[in-house]
Amino acid sequence: MKYQSAITHLECTLTGERFDASYPHRTNPANGKPLFARYDLEKAKVTLTKDSLPDRSGNMWRYREVMPVIDDANIITLGEGGTPLLKAERLAEEVGMDTVYIKDEGVNPTGSFKARGLGAAVSKAKELGQMRLTMPSAGNAAGAMSAYAAAGGMEAHVFMPKDAPIANKVECEAYGAKLTLVDGFITDAGQMSQRAAEELGLFDVSTLREPYRAEGKKTMGYEIVEQMGFEVPDVIVYPTGGGTGIVGIWKAMDEMEQLGWIGSERPRMVCVQAEGCAPLVAAFEKGEEFAEPFPDPHTLAAGMRVPAAIGDFLVIRSVRESGGTAVTVSDEEMVDGMVEMARMEGVFAAPEGGATLAAMRKLVERGLIERDDRVVLLVTGNAHKYLDMLPAGMGAA
Ligand SMILES: *Cc1c(COP(=O)(O)O)cnc(C)c1O
Repeated sequence: MKYQSAITHLECTLTGERFDASYPHRTNPANGKPLFARYDLEKAKVTLTKDSLPDRSGNMWRYREVMPVIDDANIITLGEGGTPLLKAERLAEEVGMDTVYIKDEGVNPTGSFKARGLGAAVSKAKELGQMRLTMPSAGNAAGAMSAYAAAGGMEAHVFMPKDAPIANKVECEAYGAKLTLVDGFITDAGQMSQRAAEELGLFDVSTLREPYRAEGKKTMGYEIVEQMGFEVPDVIVYPTGGGTGIVGIWKAMDEMEQLGWIGSERPRMVCVQAEGCAPLVAAFEKGEEFAEPFPDPHTLAAGMRVPAAIGDFLVIRSVRESGGTAVTVSDEEMVDGMVEMARMEGVFAAPEGGATLAAMRKLVERGLIERDDRVVLLVTGNAHKYLDMLPAGMGAA
């Protein structure tokens, strides 16, 4: 073990109360709020230097000191992370921008950035002796959990609304997960998963209801900064569902400052949601700290169909502190964004990725993004899993 995790404890994101990281905690039992992993960054700083990076593995575990798994033997990796930061020159020119990057998370194992979150969470669950996992999911998270559980020789239970994309059902079964199709919404699937957890003694790895998915997703922040030569972009446009990624990237910025990689500069974080499911945008616009559950959520982008997010206040806080904003796009605009990204840059983005382009356009029009801002569009997944959901005109029937 050349490099070691500097994890010290878990901390309640609302109250700051400390919890033991060697116990399989999920949320703060007193208030139900998410816990964050904390590290001894002074210690991590000694080995996690910029100069040490070229010698490290190309996957997300390259940031070993700020990852939560203690024993290397518990790391389950499928090569997640290390995704390209593509310079989207044709797109930039078309939108009237100098510099636009696409962070292409679609090339991750299982086709989305969920591989980072579940790679970290499933590995840490294994370390904590939790070998039987469960989760409600309509999409990419279930596939990723199932794949990492398979690779770790662990048991996976998935509760999925039956109208989920075919690819997500098929992949879970292919990875050997126990798939239960639910005649209802994701909230119904969530209740069933919770009941199964209690009755069968399973560990529920729903997002931000366990502390370590955010740790996997934060590595996107580390990578972007590393790939930009230790500079911070001006804007990061993020398609937001539960918000684990945006919150994780924001956390990474603070850690990197303490590691001496960057100064106090920060990207403006843009939270993009679908018109048909925008609880966080609504709360941001009203100036509220927490979000109301969004009634009758609907959007083609399953990853953004999250009507109530447990980490709502963390997303809203990061957007506000960063000087960013929150914006909605319609399903039609997302699909237009997908087509444009595919035709101009050769990136076949999931609808969530298309949404980032649509959002950037709106913000350029509103003057909230300026020509010389360096913008990163977070393309969170690839489109191949959504083929049965896409409208006619994109080759789908
Ligand atoms: C899950 C998911 C999202 C939303 O991610 P959060 O970090 O939970 O907000 C966005 N895009 C895709 C493709 C997803 O699978």
